[in-house]
This record gives sequence, C-alpha cells and structure tokens, in this order.
Amino acid sequence: MRKKIVAANWKMNMTQAESAAFVKSLLLDLGDITDIEVVIVPPFTAIAKVMEALGPSQNIKLGAQNMHWEQNGAFTGEISAALLRDLFVRYVVLGHSERRTLFGETDEIVNRKVRAAHEAMLRPIVCIGETLEQRDKGNVEKILSIQLRGSLAGLSEKELHETVIAYEPVWAIGTGRNATPEQAQEAHAFIRHTLAKISDETTAERVRIQYGGSVKPDNAHELMSQPDIDGALVGGASLDPRSFAQIVKAAREEEL
Ligand code: PEP
Repeated sequence: MRKKIVAANWKMNMTQAESAAFVKSLLLDLGDITDIEVVIVPPFTAIAKVMEALGPSQNIKLGAQNMHWEQNGAFTGEISAALLRDLFVRYVVLGHSERRTLFGETDEIVNRKVRAAHEAMLRPIVCIGETLEQRDKGNVEKILSIQLRGSLAGLSEKELHETVIAYEPVWAIGTGRNATPEQAQEAHAFIRHTLAKISDETTAERVRIQYGGSVKPDNAHELMSQPDIDGALVGGASLDPRSFAQIVKAAREEEL
C-alpha cells in the first residue's frame, strides 16, 4: 500500500510572515495527520520560518524547490543538498517544467541532482510531463519514457523506491486546465510500467507517483481516486491554506 503524498509548491511566493500564517492555519485545519504525507515546499528564504512554525509537528515535512548537484564550493547563487539538510529539509523538487523550460535543465542535469539528493539522504520529487504539442503529435509515452530513463539513470532499487515521481503535463500547469482523471491515470500507469522495465515490478509498485497541474479542491478527489495516482503536487491552489487543506483531505478520503 503506497502512502499518499500531497505537496505544496509555493514557487516564488510567500514572505516569512505569510508562511508562518499559512502553517498556523493549516495545522488548525488538519490537526494530527499521519495517514497522508504532507510536504510544504517554500522558497529558500522561508524554509527556516516554516520549520519554526511547524514546531513539534512531525507529520508535515519540508521540501525545497531545487538544488545544485555539488555539495559545496564556488557556485554563487546555488544551494546544495547539504545546506538543505542543515535546514531539516526532507524532499527536493527536481526537474520542474519551469526549471526545464526557463532555466535550460536537461534530463542529464536533473539526473545529477537526483543522484546528489540521494547521496545526501534527501528524497527527490522528480517532475516529468509532455507539452501540448507533444501530446497532439501522439508522443506522450515517448516523452515520458525519455524523461524517466534520463532523470533516473543509475539509481539503485532502494533509491528508486525512495524517489517520488510527479507527472505534470506542461499544458496543465498554472493554466486552470487539469488533465482528466482518465488522461492522468493512463499516463501514471505508463510511468509505472516504465519503472518496472527500468527496475522490477516490485519496486515499480512501491514508487509513489503524484499528479500535478491545476489540482484544486474540486478536482482533487476524482484525480486521487485513480489507482495509480498517489497524491498531488499543487502549485496555485497551495498558496491558500484552506484550499490546500481541502486537497489534503481529498487524499485522505481515499486512504480511510
Ligand atoms: C506546479 O507548479 O507544480 C503546479 C502543478 O502548478 P499548478 O497547480 O498551479 O498548476
């Protein structure tokens, strides 16, 4: 049984004060959650504040939005896995489509980061997904296969099991247009099938695959009730604590 994982990707938003207010509201709304893994992924500048606001709550974990593959050194403007660990970060989002398209990240770069994350005992959330043009040309499976194989090259079975995949069709990110549950399930099933080929059936069955792309309280339940959808990576709707809490609760209904 895979434990669902719902993550809030705040992108380049949220001051320290807004972050603290968000966490306070979320904790009140969700209470003590253990059946779902909840991850907050603030900008680097708010990570310490979110940690402080979480207090003794062990059930909500911290994530980061990116990292460099080197551990330290002369890389002005970059953050390493070791520095993230120092802030008690547990997850790191890698290969987000905004990183790929706006900052030129290739599968090879993503792969270096994924391996560096595992070496530092950080769990990567690896984003993959096709553009609308690629979908229209019938190339969804080809693109997902290339991105998966490239980003995950060289991982052991244990590392693969500890990796989360986020299927995020680029045309659905921040557009208000989510994939239908059927489209998403079809892609997730293909991803799991590909993971089995990369590794083996048992490992593939254990890997959690999140859906991301315009997830909102009103579509979250239907998406997460699909057999191969193990949670959500939420952008826009994660900036409001009440809508994010509703999405977490939608994942919970599936678990209970
Ligand atoms: C994202 O940024 O990962 C994302 C899925 O954004 P949104 O929910 O706003 O589409």
